[in-house]
Amino acid sequence: LLYIGVGLNAKSNYVFLGKVRVRTLIGLMVFDITVILYQFINRYILVTGLAIAFNIVILIIIFYFVDVIFDEVTGLKNKEGFKRSCSEYIKKARSVDGYYIFKLEIYNLKVINEKYGYEESNEIINFLSKRIETSLKDFTNDYIIGRIGGDDFAIMAPYDGVSHPDMVCNLQTVMGSDDPKYDYVAYLYAGACEIKDKKSDVTTILDNADYALGYIRGKYNNHIAVYEGRIQEDDKNTKEIEQRERQAIENDEFALYLQPIYDTKTQRVVSAEALVRWIPEDGKIISPGAFIPIFEKNGFITKLDLLIFSKVCRNLRKWLDEGLNVVPVSVNFSRIDMMSNNIIMDIMSIINAHRIPHELIKIEITESAFNDNDDRTIENMKTLHDEGFKIMMDDFGSGYSNLNMFREMPIDIVKIDMVFLKNIEISDNGKIVVKSVVEMTKKLGLPVVVEGVETDEQYDFINNIDCEMTQGYLFSKPIPAGDFEKNILRG
Ligand code: C2E
Ligand code: CA
Ligand code: CA
Repeated sequence: LLYIGVGLNAKSNYVFLGKVRVRTLIGLMVFDITVILYQFINRYILVTGLAIAFNIVILIIIFYFVDVIFDEVTGLKNKEGFKRSCSEYIKKARSVDGYYIFKLEIYNLKVINEKYGYEESNEIINFLSKRIETSLKDFTNDYIIGRIGGDDFAIMAPYDGVSHPDMVCNLQTVMGSDDPKYDYVAYLYAGACEIKDKKSDVTTILDNADYALGYIRGKYNNHIAVYEGRIQEDDKNTKEIEQRERQAIENDEFALYLQPIYDTKTQRVVSAEALVRWIPEDGKIISPGAFIPIFEKNGFITKLDLLIFSKVCRNLRKWLDEGLNVVPVSVNFSRIDMMSNNIIMDIMSIINAHRIPHELIKIEITESAFNDNDDRTIENMKTLHDEGFKIMMDDFGSGYSNLNMFREMPIDIVKIDMVFLKNIEISDNGKIVVKSVVEMTKKLGLPVVVEGVETDEQYDFINNIDCEMTQGYLFSKPIPAGDFEKNILRG
């Protein structure tokens, strides 16, 4: 009865127990039945005692230790197990020359998951893992494989990048199912990193492989990237920047620059855009293009944007107190900021602390954020709009412009992307495009800013088509906030 109970329980909880445990339980059952049969022939109390002790020991092992190193779904090693095996291999091997660690990802597992549900997806993952391993065997028998996360596998194997450029089972050829029950294709991508020497740390190599994977994930014609050359340099640069970010805030290395924005007709300064500059101790200015994308990835951007915002507020307060004729200032907020739950609270507490009228702040958000379709983003933008901040859509036309968003989103001003101006010099078609975009935004009742105005020809053109505001090197580059005060507000 006890066995039937355990058996039924194990069957219904199969997914949680995993293969390794279920197999061990079956083994244990066979063992116990043998012992019981033996007892019929030769009743011996010590055997019963030993059998019970053996059962307890095995149960403790499989429930407390086995799952630490095996993946429940595929029976492969899990992350811990994979790392352990690799470290052991590296330690024991005479040489690891030419060995690589791969991180392999089923790119579209989420879609497969949504289509088939949890249990079926596990079956599919299991099937794919077999496929990966089989084709790996065509290539070498000297490998370690593990499933190290939901859609991630890891492999350690020799690799020369030439005789088998795609490594595992032709990553490019999509993997489908043999089972008519399922209809899917799985896309595989891999990042690889060489094991340089016997002192190498597996976790670091796996991280590097992961970084390389990020370079080609989702690409159409490239499914594998090796951590070397440009990718490696990029990663080093990223890590260095990340290491310096906190200290940079403490040392006040992020400076506020302002670029004046002009009324196109009168050429008077009517506004300004806040742009950050990183000025380290050595005085060599780092431009935002070098660090903003990194901060957007690691989340530090929100801290930076709020810092720049508070610098803007501090300056405005000072100028108001001194009775200067201030102009509204636009502050760039990353789309990452807009997805946060606390951003409104943070913005409000900064602006309230400085007692700045809300209409003096414009919030610049890139067009792509409007396309994110993120509920939190939409809600945050609406709240900011209701609070009296002007919402500006930055870089309009740079992405997949979705005209619907003008109906659904609280947009007050549109800033046209710089590439349009570059185009007008190339062709008349370029001019037609800019003209139509401006006409459309006007029909919607929205003022337009054109940025990146560098030449007289560009200026004349946008003046002719009635763009309200102009920003660009022709009139002024971004300048330190102090210079803005001195030359523009007091000048
Ligand atoms: P953006 O928001 O599109 O800012 C305009 C960029 O164009 C600025 O580059 C500006 O210096 C540059 N620019 C202005 N006029 C001209 C021109 O006539 N010709 C050319 N070629 N360029 C012009 P910058 O300051 O290097 O900033 C680059 C990007 O970094 C910004 O693009 C923005 O996306 C981001 N960024 C800058 N500061 C911040 C910030 O505080 N927070 C966030 N989240 N992003 C920022
Ligand atoms: Ca901007
Ligand atoms: Ca822009």
